[in-house]
Amino acid sequence: METTRIQTVPATAAETVQRSRSVDRVVRGIATSDGAGVKLTRVLTQNLQRRLDPFLMLDAFGTDNKDDYIGGFPDHPHRGFETITYMLAGRMRHRDSAGHEGLLENGGAQWMVAGAGVVHSELPEQEDGRMEGFQLWLNLPAADKMTAPWYRDMPAAAIPTVALPSGGTVRVLAGASHGVAGAMTRPVTEPLYLDVQLPSGQTFAQALPAGHNAFIYVYRGAVTVGNAGDGAVVEAQRMGVLDNAGQADGVVIRADEDASFLLIAGQPLNEPIAQYGPFVMNTQDQIYQTLADYRDGRFASIPASQAV
Ligand code: MN
Repeated sequence: METTRIQTVPATAAETVQRSRSVDRVVRGIATSDGAGVKLTRVLTQNLQRRLDPFLMLDAFGTDNKDDYIGGFPDHPHRGFETITYMLAGRMRHRDSAGHEGLLENGGAQWMVAGAGVVHSELPEQEDGRMEGFQLWLNLPAADKMTAPWYRDMPAAAIPTVALPSGGTVRVLAGASHGVAGAMTRPVTEPLYLDVQLPSGQTFAQALPAGHNAFIYVYRGAVTVGNAGDGAVVEAQRMGVLDNAGQADGVVIRADEDASFLLIAGQPLNEPIAQYGPFVMNTQDQIYQTLADYRDGRFASIPASQAV
């Protein structure tokens, strides 16, 4: 059996949080399917896009049944935002019209900036076994929506995994935690993307900039969010939207049982959002232009170096 060896690094700084944010809403995702019949749970849905600006969508998928994933996501377009796919288990092949190709597998991630437009496919390279992971959509600022598309593979070994002093680990996909810089840094939206494994009874703290929108998604176990004694419980398969209380300087999360969760935060853009399926722009006119560009085949022919 193939295993992915994750090397941990020590924390180089403490995260000090004087006052924790709390949960102002617990959200249960919506079961749906996308691509060629892939079953998934849409955790962050369109009605939360303003509340969780700059994040547009979060899908969670996890199944041992190949019929739930085998169709994959054949050729489809995107424009105007970034997609971050994080694979806990399974293998998916990515190909896109900008000429990129990569294999996404156990513990690895893929960061794609669709920018001015890509057509890509995401297809499973397994015919049985478990497929589990997440896809997050991160908005681009208006000024960058028509940037040249690009793509980066982040294999498991490229994602720092920090051993927490009190037990547990945090994988730093983007941003920084406990003094360790993540695999990706992005300007403007400054996303933080952490995957935290916390043994029962242990506490995790993370400083967060006051203006950033933030949420957790618990995928194993259960946690309590907030300073001791006044927290809200978030159970598995639930998203906890963190409040934006002015005095809070971060979040404190305690594992009520062995728990795994994502902590995601970012600087809101506060710009108009116009979405039509896989296209996210600022105005309806830009959506009409996007549909015309796609219809006329201008996506697939955009060379990454010439898109503006
Ligand atoms: Mn896609």
